[in-house]
Amino acid sequence: MRIVLLGPPGGGKGTQAALLSEALGIPHIATGDLLRQAVAAGTPLGREAEAYMDAGDLVPDDLIVAMMRERLREADCRKGFILDGFPRTRQQADAMEAFVRMDAAILLEIPEEVLLQRFAGRRVCSECEAVYHVTGNPPEVEGVCDACGGTLIAREDDREDVVRNRLRVYQEQTAPLVQRYRDASLLREVDARHGIAETHRRLLEVVSGLGSMRKP
Ligand code: AMP
Repeated sequence: MRIVLLGPPGGGKGTQAALLSEALGIPHIATGDLLRQAVAAGTPLGREAEAYMDAGDLVPDDLIVAMMRERLREADCRKGFILDGFPRTRQQADAMEAFVRMDAAILLEIPEEVLLQRFAGRRVCSECEAVYHVTGNPPEVEGVCDACGGTLIAREDDREDVVRNRLRVYQEQTAPLVQRYRDASLLREVDARHGIAETHRRLLEVVSGLGSMRKP
């Protein structure tokens, strides 16, 4: 199954994609995580991407498309994958359609005021990228990742001014993709306001309905 998760930044795509990946046994591929790893490793891609990311702007399409083309060729993608944070522009969606056919795009819907609260409390593991929230999804030990023991930090681009820019970029460049997938009859919508477990349950329900809808 090949799924695109759509929705505004901070809406829970990373958390839900990770849960869905475990439930379906297919990889979770997050462009933001791949880029942050490239920045941490100091690769040429990372060096080029860093300033855009710090400002909350999009990294140029050609860099992202080349990165994803490589990633989706890897063996673990043969049975399917969940895309989180890609495509984010019309150009990326066009490029992707030239090399892969998706089964569904699932929109995680959430109002902007809920998003702003979520950003303020979001923490990520500096080692393994696991995502927490100080009140909504706290780790067992404050500041320490349950999965790997790494230190939890606030993301550099979760500052309020950067967040506002990221939301504006989402509305301008990524939200129009929703209509594109709707027109292609690939869109499904999930109300993502109800906490992690409930959203996961709703998402699984939508995904289990997909099998029957797919063309042979
Ligand atoms: P995310 O973790 O998905 O919120 O992504 C963090 C940052 O990485 C974004 O604000 C962008 O700067 C960059 N980024 C991630 N995915 C993409 C993409 N598909 N196209 C362009 N930039 C991206």
